[in-house]
Amino acid sequence: MGLSMVIDLNKCIGCQTCTVACKRQWTSGEGQEATWFNHVETKPGKGWPKDYLTMTPPNGVYKDAKPGRIPSTDETGGRWEIDLTKVRPEQYNRADPLQPRVKESGEKPVWGPNWDEDEGAGIFPNAFFFYLPRLCNHCEDPACLKACPRAAIKKRDDGIVLIDEPRCRAYRFCVEACPYKKIYFNPEQGVSQKCIFCFPRLEKGVAPACVAQCAGRARHFGRLEDPNSPTYKLVKQFKVALPLHSEKGTQPNVFYIPPFSPPAYNSDGSLSDRARIPLSYLRSLFGDEVEEVMATLQREREKKAKGQASAIMDELIRFKFDESWKLDSIG
Ligand code: SF4
Ligand code: SF4
Repeated sequence: MGLSMVIDLNKCIGCQTCTVACKRQWTSGEGQEATWFNHVETKPGKGWPKDYLTMTPPNGVYKDAKPGRIPSTDETGGRWEIDLTKVRPEQYNRADPLQPRVKESGEKPVWGPNWDEDEGAGIFPNAFFFYLPRLCNHCEDPACLKACPRAAIKKRDDGIVLIDEPRCRAYRFCVEACPYKKIYFNPEQGVSQKCIFCFPRLEKGVAPACVAQCAGRARHFGRLEDPNSPTYKLVKQFKVALPLHSEKGTQPNVFYIPPFSPPAYNSDGSLSDRARIPLSYLRSLFGDEVEEVMATLQREREKKAKGQASAIMDELIRFKFDESWKLDSIG
């Protein structure tokens, strides 16, 4: 146990502020054009890299000799160039702003982060989608660490999983092994790189960039073993936050509050007792526990709507906002 994050999918608005905050802070260098330590994808969807879940065996058998595979350039979208002459028409006197980006070769990409944005699933009036922010899970049992023959990946005492880049020899076994495909190979520097949970910020008592900049205030951060931390409360005490794809066996330390699922409409426009987001779909992401979590959240939501007290909703709404952000003890 150690540092952990909870992301409330009911508050994420898919604005990608977290993505940009991270990109500007850590991955704007050479060879990092296709590196997104944080990205936000639309669900249901194929995810990013495209169909990444199929790239490692389903039940944590990555521990065997053949852990998985590296996503292809087409599956990530690769490295794109932006034609600036088409972005600022007033400056360049062009009439065709915001043209699609193209690869260096001039080819149009066939996939990229949040490529299937807002497509979702279902048929009107029962269509649905929600956003799923993803970053390295700083797993308790990291597949990346186990896969590295150079012992270049370490889990610190505070739980942060880091790559010792000078030790990296570019074998990319970690990229193959990570079931979440959250390690990136930097072709210019010849090393693998990943989210560092903003440890230089944490050591100064400052929240990670994605947490601090989150426009929806959807992210909670803290030590999972600290009874005063919001993540302890949401994961351990209230039991309303779940890891993504726990079947992959790495024991993530990033957790999610599942999205509310309103009743679906009947064909006559009345409300049915069926859920708009099928429970089977939520189970496929967050496991069987999601049913109980959904019931708890609904119960607490109803309490709040009636004006009754709900410690769970207060924590999620962040009535105690300042307390949630006390990070002085981290370092
Ligand atoms: Fe390693 Fe992937 Fe887990 Fe991050 S999410 S610790 S890169 S296995
Ligand atoms: Fe969602 Fe917050 Fe990221 Fe916006 S900044 S996409 S609300 S997690």
